Amino acid sequence: MKFSLLHPRVQLVTIMERIYGYGMTTTSGGNLSILDENGDMWITPAGVDKGTLKPQDIICVKPDGTMVGPHKPSSEYPFHRAIYQKRPDFRAIVHAHPPALIAFSIARQIPNTRIIPQAHTVCGQVGYAPYRLPGSLELGAVIADTFAQGFDVVLLENHGVVAGGESLLGAFQRFETLDFCARTLIQAHSVGEVHSLTDDEIALTRKHGEKLPTFKPTFHTSRERELRQHIIDLVHRAYDQRLMTSTAGTVSARVDENSFLITPYGLDRLYLDLDDIVLIRDGQRERRKQPSRATRLHMAIYQAHPEIGAIISAQSPNAVAYCVTRRKLDTRTIPESYIVLRDIPLLPYGVQFGDGKKIIKQLGKDKPVLLLENDAILTTGATLMQAFDRLEVAEFSAQAVIATTHIGELVPIGAEEVKELEAKFLS
Ligand SMILES: [Zn+2]
Repeated sequence: MKFSLLHPRVQLVTIMERIYGYGMTTTSGGNLSILDENGDMWITPAGVDKGTLKPQDIICVKPDGTMVGPHKPSSEYPFHRAIYQKRPDFRAIVHAHPPALIAFSIARQIPNTRIIPQAHTVCGQVGYAPYRLPGSLELGAVIADTFAQGFDVVLLENHGVVAGGESLLGAFQRFETLDFCARTLIQAHSVGEVHSLTDDEIALTRKHGEKLPTFKPTFHTSRERELRQHIIDLVHRAYDQRLMTSTAGTVSARVDENSFLITPYGLDRLYLDLDDIVLIRDGQRERRKQPSRATRLHMAIYQAHPEIGAIISAQSPNAVAYCVTRRKLDTRTIPESYIVLRDIPLLPYGVQFGDGKKIIKQLGKDKPVLLLENDAILTTGATLMQAFDRLEVAEFSAQAVIATTHIGELVPIGAEEVKELEAKFLS
């Protein structure tokens, strides 16, 4: 879907539904705007239920200040106006009060985006605006001044967060990625000390992902078509369960000996369509498509491991809490976890950007899941469903182990019982 071609009214309602639907705002909090090329500002209204917002509820504020629409504009209209004045590169603004970011805002701490490279690339450094009365010109001035320093996302002291962008989708992705960082950091707090990436470490990702030569497919097998649909269904499901964000997460599936399908680079995970999935055959990519930057790694894994039929890498907050603290996740918690996940090796940051040999060496029948330091969880399976199940089980297990830290000590299943499980289920 080409989101930018939707009318501003529809874009605003769609993104508000997404923010409300995923628990990132209440019915009364949050507001969004788009600035048109002719200076019209389209903004969400004040006092209208965010859960049932309709395109006709959106207000249009003309450059001379005339308001067109059935409601008053958001009470935070003054800060939207002030930000656009200071940042002419912005075409959209997203503001809301998601719980994890409120936690940072009331602890008066700025969430660290250097925990995974993609989050830092999307959000950059986060600005901090001191508290002022909501709806006041003073609040508008302190927020706009902070954006004027070059930040693209600003934490509001004892209030929430504002993200700007060249498009509404871009501003939303920044907002959502920062919320992901906040949720991950909160979970990581119970696991250990968070490791922050340096500029050089973040720069490693840019050198990676050189393009494959292209080819024009002359046929699409039924198996390939079926897998395209299955990949999309699972990406949407992973997004709905917050195992992926709009900007991160890769899924691939083997079609036959020489080809596989993989999700594209840079497209919003929630709006992926059949045609967005990229076919890779004999080391070439389907023409006019940009596959995930992990394509070469997935290709190397499929070549080395004929038993693997699907690979997922994802950023789910509880599993990633272990990646960013560089701690091992104990899977000897309940039988399901150990049977589905086995032991999960933790691999050093950067192995995914090289030739992938260290990853290939670690993977095997008894090691289907890996944690990559300051990056992602990588799961494999004979089928897409098996790789997806492993992602879910790993995320649940991590969540349970983190929850345990609040109530007592984790008592793992003993060595004898593990042997018994291996004999019954894994031999
Ligand atoms: Zn607010």
